[in-house]
Amino acid sequence: MSTFDVAGLNPPQAEAVQTLSGPLLVLAGAGTGKTRVVTFRIANLIKHGVSPDRILAVTFTNKAAGEMQDRVADLLGYKKQKRKRGQKGPPKPTISTFHAQCVKILREHAPALGFPATFAIYDRSDQESLARAILRELRLPNTALKPNDMLSIISGWKSASVFPEEAMSIASTDKEHFAASGYRRYQNGLRARGAMDFDDLLLQTEMLFSEHAEIRDREASKYDHVLVDEYQDTNGSQYRITKFLTEAHRNLCVVGDDDQSIYAWRGADVSHILSFSKDWPDAKVVWLEDNYRSTGAILEMANTLIDFNTVRHDKVLKPYRPSGKRPRIVQHKDEQAEAETVVREIKHLIDNEHIQPKDISILFRTNEQPRLFETELRKHDVPYVMLGSQSFFDRREVRDIVAYLKWINQPDDEISLLRVINTPARGLSNKSVRMLIDRAVAKGIPVWQVMNDPESVADLTPAALRGIDQLKQLLGDVQQRLSNETMREGLETLLQRTAYADEIARLYDQPDERESRMASIGEVANAVAAYEDKNEEPDLSGFLSDIALAGREMGSEKDKLAMKNAVWLLTMHAAKGLEFPVVYMVGMEDGILPHSRTLKGGMDEDIAEERRLCYVGITRAQDQLTMSLALTRRKWGKPRPTKPSMFLYEITGQADNPNKYRKRKQGAPRP
Ligand code: ATP
Ligand code: MG
Repeated sequence: MSTFDVAGLNPPQAEAVQTLSGPLLVLAGAGTGKTRVVTFRIANLIKHGVSPDRILAVTFTNKAAGEMQDRVADLLGYKKQKRKRGQKGPPKPTISTFHAQCVKILREHAPALGFPATFAIYDRSDQESLARAILRELRLPNTALKPNDMLSIISGWKSASVFPEEAMSIASTDKEHFAASGYRRYQNGLRARGAMDFDDLLLQTEMLFSEHAEIRDREASKYDHVLVDEYQDTNGSQYRITKFLTEAHRNLCVVGDDDQSIYAWRGADVSHILSFSKDWPDAKVVWLEDNYRSTGAILEMANTLIDFNTVRHDKVLKPYRPSGKRPRIVQHKDEQAEAETVVREIKHLIDNEHIQPKDISILFRTNEQPRLFETELRKHDVPYVMLGSQSFFDRREVRDIVAYLKWINQPDDEISLLRVINTPARGLSNKSVRMLIDRAVAKGIPVWQVMNDPESVADLTPAALRGIDQLKQLLGDVQQRLSNETMREGLETLLQRTAYADEIARLYDQPDERESRMASIGEVANAVAAYEDKNEEPDLSGFLSDIALAGREMGSEKDKLAMKNAVWLLTMHAAKGLEFPVVYMVGMEDGILPHSRTLKGGMDEDIAEERRLCYVGITRAQDQLTMSLALTRRKWGKPRPTKPSMFLYEITGQADNPNKYRKRKQGAPRP
């Protein structure tokens, strides 16, 4: 039998690729070629006669799956042929994400679980409506548990494969008890609506396999080989689904890196990879040490940083490439200067240094960060795609405030008015609103005019009439402040009069969630302040058209992926597994990375996870890495001084490493 062409693989990689059966673990640091091993191994299996459609490979993101498909096609010399509709091509390996693969399985077998095969997949706002209905049914006082908190608690349970019965017995706080009683109803509610949420896709698949042996066997027998990338981030369900699918043939290859485990907060458990050899005692274990991705200088930085984590397996990460340009740490006056400078540099790289937009990425930690970069990139006409973060202007609270501003700017703007007419609630029930709309339609005038005509509203409930009065007053007050004073003050009045902060407190009482929602409103305030500072004659409509341009829809997720030659704006979480010649890590400040939540909690393990996230960010860079921070950053429109990220001190040798003199156990606890 011919051996696979191992050109392009080092000896341990070749060993892994040439291991054609049995359990196999590749545990190695960033950029050492783990994913390359997976793709070459798929190709090698095929060259050794395994039919492509007997191979299943699982990765974490759609982008990673797409890239892996391309790499395998290149290795096997598959030509991209246009086929007529309905014509089947040659068999191909299945390369997919866990969630997509589960959807495929569930579409076939959902009826066995009592769901229609055409089950709906609920997004966050669908989930919220259901949660609200359930809390009403439970007649809990509004202060006891908010819909969003119930959803977060339930999601935590689902990621840990805790079902409603068990949730009851492990709930400890009052909130958890309420959530546990809501959990069963929530599941019944989903079932009654023929729907699953995102967590269910994994959980229901796990349940399907554990309760229906014949279905499990049928699904497991579809593949002879299963390969899993980024195995350190599997949660309990993913781990068990993998086991179910491989127990019979035992041909399971997993690759991963414990230093890149960054999803503990979502139920991932690094012990799955660390105890692989216990699960599969005859597993072959391969270690890789050479990093082919990054320059020596970038790697040195990554190694120095990750060494600050006390609990980790000592892995060697050696640069294969020469030292290269030193990574830069750049300070900017404020966040505006940071965004302007980074984008100006990017523009220069593209225009003068022949660097392709797709070879550049900007990595950020929080959802508030990309707005300024988006604006600058648009201004300079640099194509970009954003993944892993809800676009800022899509967030519910931002949409609400912007809708208010649009309505204040143009009271006849009915879409905006109807969005905010009873948000926050002010006695204008659905029924009253329906009546107003009907009358507006009958008279052929805008709703706001109907609301201003005493005769047309005479028969509304007293509560509705009070609501209309409140809106009129709000509009008058804000308009007055806008024309006599600044826009900042107008916005302030708007937030006061609507008591929007109370609305957020009412909707969310998990402190993190509340903080993040408030932070996005703070970002609107920042945007207003920045707009006013920049324009000689600022006015509301000017501001609104500015943000309309910035918020213009980029098209669907699929279009984004098709639009390949664009600068990548990514969260560090979404960047896992990817690589870019040029990387900017922005907002390197305490409170951003590490995230404020983890600083406040003061738990070492939380900081350690943030440090791993920073390590993931650094190790994405191939040639040039720039880390930047702003010396002041606006919070609620006011510039505030910042502190450089503690990780910057660690990287530059300005912080004491408690592990320096602690000799790690030799050959220490390798699984
Ligand atoms: P991560 O931990 O970030 O997921 P990884 O271990 O999966 O990284 P890969 O993405 O597979 O690493 O490889 C990193 C880079 O190094 C890729 O560009 C890959 O093509 C290259 N590479 C890997 N092995 C070799 C090799 N033996 N010779 C040349 N280049 C290699
Ligand atoms: Mg990889």
